[in-house]
Formats: sequence, C-alpha cells, structure tokens
Amino acid sequence: MFANVIVEYGVKSLNQKFIYKIPNNLLGKIKVGMKVYVPFGSQEIFGFVLEITDKNNTDYALKEIIRVDNENLVLNEELMAIGKYVADSTLCTLITAYQTMLPSGLKIKKQIHKYDLYDEYIKIKNTNKVLEYIEKHKNRKKQIEILKTILKNQKIIKKNVNSAILKILQENDLIEIEKVKHYRINKLSDKLIKRELTDDQKKVFARVKFDNYRTYLLYGITGSGKTEVYIKLIEKCLKIGKTAIMLVPEIGLTTQIANRFYEAFGNDVAILHSALSQGERYDEYLKIMNNEVKVVVGTRSAIFAPLNKLGIVIIDEEDSNSYKQDNNPRYHARDIAIYRGKYNNIPVVLGSATPSLESKARADKQVYELLRLDKRVGNAKIPDIYIVDMEKEMKKRNNIFSDLLKDKIAEKLNKKEQIILLLNRRGFATFITCSNCGYTYKCPNCDITLTYHKTTNNLICHYCGFQQKSGILCPKCGEKALNYYGLGTEKLEEKIKELFPNIRVIRMDQDTTRNKGMHEKIISDFKNHKYDLLLGTQMVSKGLDFPNVSLVGVINADTTLNIPDYRSSENTYSLLSQVAGRAGRSNILGEVVIQTFNPDNYVINCVKENNYDKFYIKEMGFRKKLKYPPYYYLVGIKIVGKNYEKNLENAKKLKYYLSNNLNKDTIVLGPTTAAILKFKNEYRMQIIIKYKYDDKLLSVLKDIDKLFIDNKESYLEIDFNPLRI
Ligand code: ADP
Ligand code: ZN
Repeated sequence: MFANVIVEYGVKSLNQKFIYKIPNNLLGKIKVGMKVYVPFGSQEIFGFVLEITDKNNTDYALKEIIRVDNENLVLNEELMAIGKYVADSTLCTLITAYQTMLPSGLKIKKQIHKYDLYDEYIKIKNTNKVLEYIEKHKNRKKQIEILKTILKNQKIIKKNVNSAILKILQENDLIEIEKVKHYRINKLSDKLIKRELTDDQKKVFARVKFDNYRTYLLYGITGSGKTEVYIKLIEKCLKIGKTAIMLVPEIGLTTQIANRFYEAFGNDVAILHSALSQGERYDEYLKIMNNEVKVVVGTRSAIFAPLNKLGIVIIDEEDSNSYKQDNNPRYHARDIAIYRGKYNNIPVVLGSATPSLESKARADKQVYELLRLDKRVGNAKIPDIYIVDMEKEMKKRNNIFSDLLKDKIAEKLNKKEQIILLLNRRGFATFITCSNCGYTYKCPNCDITLTYHKTTNNLICHYCGFQQKSGILCPKCGEKALNYYGLGTEKLEEKIKELFPNIRVIRMDQDTTRNKGMHEKIISDFKNHKYDLLLGTQMVSKGLDFPNVSLVGVINADTTLNIPDYRSSENTYSLLSQVAGRAGRSNILGEVVIQTFNPDNYVINCVKENNYDKFYIKEMGFRKKLKYPPYYYLVGIKIVGKNYEKNLENAKKLKYYLSNNLNKDTIVLGPTTAAILKFKNEYRMQIIIKYKYDDKLLSVLKDIDKLFIDNKESYLEIDFNPLRI
C-alpha cells in the first residue's frame, strides 16, 4: 500500500503530493488525515496523508513512511474536504489550508513541547493482599493509614503522598498509579440557568428548521436578545443529538458570551480563541476531537472545529471584519460556515444589528431567509442620539470634549451610572513633528508616521510593529521643538482625568489587553462598577452587555468615515450603531453623544435615526453606481517587491495579461499604489478586478499565480472579496 502525502513546507513550488510506501508495521494504522514523519531529500520532515492507495504510478524505488506522529490526530472526511475548499477558493497551498485549521500545538511541524497534562491517582491493586498486609504489619502506622484512606475513597491524589512510602507500597505490589487527562480549562456550573424566550424571540426561533441546509439572517437591533435565541437554537440542536459552533468576532466577547454559554450548557462547552495559551488551545481541541463537548464558542478559526454531527453554525455580528483573515489564506469564516452548512445539511444563522450589505442583499433576494427582531427585550428603549458639530466646538476651544459631552458625563457620574467613550485610535499622539525643521518621525520600513506611546515612551509603527525610544530633541536639526499632534486613547485617558479628577477610568485597547486575562478582567471589573468610565478603541463597541451604562460618547466619528475605502461608510455605520447600542440596555434610558466634523453626513444621520434600512438603500445606490459589492465581486491583487521600478513593471505586465485573458465585461483597474505603498521595506502595487460573472477568472488567476512562483523580483497576494482596497 502507498500513501500520497503533502509536506510541511508551505511554498507553492512544493504544492504537490508525494508518494510513499507504507511499511508493513504501519499497514492498517495509517489513515487519511494523519500527521506522519517522512524522508524528504536528505532530511526527515513532517507530512500529512491525503490519500491511501494500492496504485503506484512511478517506476522508481519509493521511500517508506517512518512513523505516525500522533495517532489521536486524524482530520475527518469533512475537514479534509474543507481544506481542499479553502485551498481552491483562496489559491493557497493545501498544506497551508490544513495548517490554518489546526491549533498551534498540533500543527505539522516539529514539536518540542508536550502539551498533555495528567492528574495521577493511587489505586489499590488487590484488596485481599492489602488487608493481609495491614494485618501483618500493624506497626507500620503511616503506611496503614494511607492504605485505609485509599480503601475508603477508592483512589487518592498521588502528589499528596510521601514518595518514600509510595515506593514501599509499590514494591510490595499493593497499589497502582492511574493517569487521568487533566484539562486546563474546567468550568463546572453548579446550576444551569434557563430563560423563557419572549414572544418575539419565539417567533424567530420557530422559523429555523433543523432538517435542511438554509442560511438565515437574523437582523435584530442591539439589545433585542439575539444571544438568547442562539442559546435556545443550540439547546434544540443538542436535544436531537447534534453539536453546534458559535462564532463571535472579538476575544473579549468570547469570554463574555462563553460565560453565558457555560451557564446554559455547563462543561459541554469548549472555547477557542487566540488569547488562550497554546496548552489551553490544545486541550480544548482535544475535548472536541474526543467528542467530550458539544458546543464550541470561538473566534474566526473556530469555524474549523472538528465537531462530529454538526447541527448548526451561528455567526454573531456577522458583518465584523474580523471574520476575514487578512493574511494567507484569506478565507472568510462565513463562507466556511456555509460550506459546512451544505456539507451537513444543517442551518446556518448569521446574526447582526447591522448586517453586511452583502448578507442583507442576499436576504432581500431570498437567497438567505430574513428573520427580524425590532424591539429591545423588556422595558429597555432605544437610546437618544445627539450629534455635535465639532467645528463649532473648536471655536469655543473645545478640542476634545464638547460642552454637551462634558455635561452628560458629569450628570451620569452624579447618578452613579456608567459611561463608555469610543476613540478608534490607540497610543498618545498619532504623529510628532519638529516645528523648527518640519521633520516627522516615520517608520523606516513603512510609509507610515510613528505613533507616540507615553506609558512606554516608545514610538511605534502600528503596521509592522517597529519601535524606537522617543527623544526630547529633533533627530534632524537638534532643536527642542518637537510637537505632539493627534489624539489617541492614552491621551484621552489623561484628559478625562484632568477634567474629572475623581473619576475611575479603565482603558481597553490593544495595549492594555496584551497580557493574558486582561480582556476578561477589564470587562468584569467594569461590569461590577469598579470603574465609572470605560474608554477604548472599537474593542468597546461590539456585543458587550453592561446594564448600568447610560451614556456612550464617540469622540471622533470621522476617523473611520474618512478612510478612502469603498466600505468606510458601512464600517462607520456599523461601528457607531454598535457602540450606541451599548447604552440603555436595561431600565435606565441610554443617551449617545456623537462628535463629528461632518454633522450632515448621511451615515451619521442614519445612525441618529437608528434607521438601518434607510442607510442600506442609500449605500446600495452608491455601490451600484460605482460598481462595488454586492453588485460586483472584487478580487484584489497586490504585487509586492523590493525594487520599486521592477515591481511596477511586473504590475503593468500583469494588468496587460489580465485584460487580455479575462471576460470582456470584467473590469481590470490599476496598477495603482496600494493604500500603504511601502510596508516592511517592500513596495506594493495593486490591481483590482471587478466582475459579475467570469468563467475564466479562477483558471486565469491560477495561471498567474503559477507564473509568479519563479519571479525573483515580485510576488503576488491574491485576495478574493477583499474587505479593504
Ligand atoms: P443582543 O445580542 O441582541 O444585543 P442580548 O442577547 O445581549 O442582545 O440581550 C440583551 C439583554 O436582554 C441581556 O441582558 C439579556 O440577558 C436580556 N434578555 C434577552 N432575552 C431575554 C429573555 N428572554 N428573558 C430575559 N432577559 C432576556
Ligand atoms: Zn513599519
């Protein structure tokens, strides 16, 4: 027998199957989807079994597989198929696709670390022998005491027993050691919390059918109780003996929603997200592989969870950009969810208060089934939203806080209610310039100004992570004339404390949540009212449920609005509506203050009116006119290289090739410089393809992908349905 194996190297030139002979001692042991160790050239490396066959079409002597790496790790048929789908639909190598699906502790590469943890117990080996021993050696008091405890409790934990005594008991063949797998995350709920659905929730719940593939779009305003509907759907799914995946966009949300899920399903739940330690992720993955859990809650890559008998996939906040991976492979979790929905013939539920235009358009065309929740649960009302014109405020020298926002903050502090402030920029100052010579600190590797972080006194590139210490003097002219411009969350924190000296403020952004468990801690501390005000980046905007928050302030609504991108209006609408939705989620009325230099902008006004439908119609009009999704599909191609001239030349050749080989109705734009021209010392040109239907597209893209494998000057990044161009 033979095995077709792909090897651990992700480079495109090795993207092919290699055939190996299965040695006799491994016959019957090796299965499709297993990780194996194989000879390769003069090395020994890891590979992954794609097929087992009795045919050998080569006529040279084959090498043999050396061993199976981990017998417990076998990707099932569905996951094998998903890997192929990811590779085909994103043009990545097969091994890259499978690697993406596995948690880091199980990836196809050398592992130095052993992640398995065990608890060790002592058990009696032979009761009669022990009783005899006790009778015979009455003076050995300590030993007898231990033996009696084990007899009484059946087993005891080994680490509490003196090792000398343990040794004697073992030598006398009285006891044995039992190893039990120990999971790092172990949630035991003492009692499960069940809620009754409201009538509106019940109606939505009843529309979802479990015996067929169908994608549903649950469009429910913030606070309408979507989470509770998800829980009831999953409950039903478990009742019919199946399992469920629930995706959430942010790590912070995973912990909040996971807690609600532990309350509902106890330790039937596994969680998967990038803030877990490698060991925790390994453990959670094993629980899923071994069918020890039925529900998986996690971020993007949890869509690959190896659950058997999958019964439903739910994606909360389906419009979140975090569901699209922005490096290779550039897959979208929604597409994988729908693939799994069809594969298993089960429902897929996409939920949001601000559905993506793509999903809403599909629902309007009845490709998806639309479910609506138009009211908040209980007595909670939609918050009142005020728009403040910052141009007028600037004349009053209110650079950061408008009068209205200041008044409202004071009022809520007085009433002991809580406040959230959104500023979608981290750091202290976003750029530093010398007023003497005009010098600006820029990243040496990218075409980007460095952001000043006061806490660490560092200048940081938010794109590549480059850091340098900040000085007092201008590095160019040596004058003491450096000025700090732009507002980041760090500075906002300082300013709010100046304004309200007694206020208790907590900041949540990438910088304050770097350490493990910080997300959870900030959220629970704020929920328990250890702080009056939570401020942060878009991390504070989605999904969080704090009943005592009655005011949300948006410091600068224009940061996302002004990004030159076809989705910036949609992103802004979603961000503002979501953050507004954090206010007034219980009995107290919520208020929202949005500060902007564009008070007449339609996006901001649709947010004020809480009118998604109006925004949707207007935005769809623009998309149609400008030939953007959902009317057209996009492919973004980046041509990347170290030499600007040569790279540009390659980009032009590529454009020529595409224009000549794609369908006549397909539009090929560019090459232009990418949004960030220089990144990590490489120049990036961009070509955009717009098409409605093009039967040649995939094969043409595969061809150019192959052509560039041997190009020494430039390489390609092909992105299907890019979220940013
Ligand atoms: P959404 O996800 O739509 O923003 P949530 O699911 O967070 O809304 O629900 C908003 C609030 O209403 C939460 O505090 C939740 O506990 C509460 N809630 C939702 N459904 C019910 C219900 N059927 N009975 C009681 N409380 C509910
Ligand atoms: Zn950089």
